[in-house]
Amino acid sequence: MKTFLIDNAFIVTQNDQRLIVRGSLSVIEGRIAEVGKEISPVDGPVYDFQGDYLIPGLIQSHIHLCQTLFRHQAEGLPLMHWLQERIWPLEAALDEETLRVSAELGVAELLLSGTTCLLDMGTVHHQDVIGEVVEASGIRAALGKAMMDVGNNGVPSGLLETTRESLDESMRLARRWDGAAHGRIRYAFAPRFVLACSTDLQREVGRLSRQHGYLIHTHSSEHPLELDMVRQQMGGRNVQVLDRLGMCSQRSVFAHGVHLDDAERRVLAQSRTSICHCPSANLKLGSGVADLPALFNAGVNVGIGADGAACNNHLDGLVEMRLAHLLQNPKHGPGKVSPQAVLDMATRNGAQALCWQDRIGSLEPGKEADLVRISRDDFRLGLGSDPLSEIVTAGSRCLVRDVWVRGRRLVQEGRLTGMDRARLLQRGKKALAKTLHRAGLAG
Ligand SMILES: [Zn+2]
Repeated sequence: MKTFLIDNAFIVTQNDQRLIVRGSLSVIEGRIAEVGKEISPVDGPVYDFQGDYLIPGLIQSHIHLCQTLFRHQAEGLPLMHWLQERIWPLEAALDEETLRVSAELGVAELLLSGTTCLLDMGTVHHQDVIGEVVEASGIRAALGKAMMDVGNNGVPSGLLETTRESLDESMRLARRWDGAAHGRIRYAFAPRFVLACSTDLQREVGRLSRQHGYLIHTHSSEHPLELDMVRQQMGGRNVQVLDRLGMCSQRSVFAHGVHLDDAERRVLAQSRTSICHCPSANLKLGSGVADLPALFNAGVNVGIGADGAACNNHLDGLVEMRLAHLLQNPKHGPGKVSPQAVLDMATRNGAQALCWQDRIGSLEPGKEADLVRISRDDFRLGLGSDPLSEIVTAGSRCLVRDVWVRGRRLVQEGRLTGMDRARLLQRGKKALAKTLHRAGLAG
């Protein structure tokens, strides 16, 4: 069923010209064959979209699937306390079974809200489980285990590893998962952040990334207290330090980039390092607001992400897009970051961040068919004629009807095709109770 034709759709192509086509799109063997007003028939079913929107699958370039279980379990805390008092102890208490449930809950929520691709920062142990969940679910992901070899900033012993262990396990995982599921999965080294990683480890990650082409995924420049600690312990600003260690390149994605100076933005642009903007997470932890116009003006590639459920309480790309659009208004005035710029962040820029721009990020012949249908049969959408404004500022996961990844339908009429929602929720409750108990944080 990976060959089909979509008819009567409002197609937001996100191609170079940003064309919006009222017409049809065909998929042959999971790949987009044609887009246009009149296209050739294919040997497969025809889906009449009745004027609904068809957009590229959303790409979230910073997610923690391992934290989905911890939603509502770490409230009212700034970044370092949030990590030290809740998140790290909870992550350390995960086992294979509870990690699997957490990842499945995350993937289910992402698919139901129109995200077809993610960059995941895993946890320190049991990372194969996350790969297995991604592989079985059909979603597309770049993923890697979190690397943590420095313990003096409150990292619990359950997450602490030696530099050698961290690198060896990462390389084992990279060999297993990079290119897995016929290229639907790729590997991203995930040194957690400067404060949890030794300089030796980060330098080696930079070198291995250059040697093998694996991505690098880390956190940077998120919260003022983190900045102070980095300055004290490392003698510089985040991006300066990361650049010195050879961690900046077109294969690198730094989550957040809230607190950057002009020199850091120049380094990011020149090295073609991507930033992932995480507006909800930055609001929840009180970290600040990333200056998108300054990043755009400097020429930095900026994607978007929900971060984890524990620092957001949603994993919804449409929520992040709306916030990214609105949040710049108080500082820069309305209209400075357009709906088009925001949709670019969640599609084309995300694809570029993951070095997958040849496969995904737009609806064009030859690209893989990661597709999302958004209903226009709603009070919020469909009366007017500005698709971008409607999708970005008034879109909702309630309106996501169908989702395909590489031509495989994973959401049909708002329901997951391959996962049992009720059973998953039940398993989630049990897994959370077990994890809280193991972490000594129950009740
Ligand atoms: Zn994060």
